[in-house]
Amino acid sequence: MLVKVVLLFLLAMALMAMVANLLFPGRLKKRFLPGRCAKCGRPKIGTGPCPCETRRIK
Ligand SMILES: [Zn+2]
Repeated sequence: MLVKVVLLFLLAMALMAMVANLLFPGRLKKRFLPGRCAKCGRPKIGTGPCPCETRRIK
């Protein structure tokens, strides 16, 4: 019973991700994959801002 619910939930999530990927190819990538800094071009580590930006703020 519970396994069925979990399986259904996973299937729904996968379907939604597929549809979203088809509709917005760029948005999902930006949200889930760490992008590169727009200023220095280095790949970002984690979800926080790039080190070059934090240094400027401080
Ligand atoms: Zn940077």
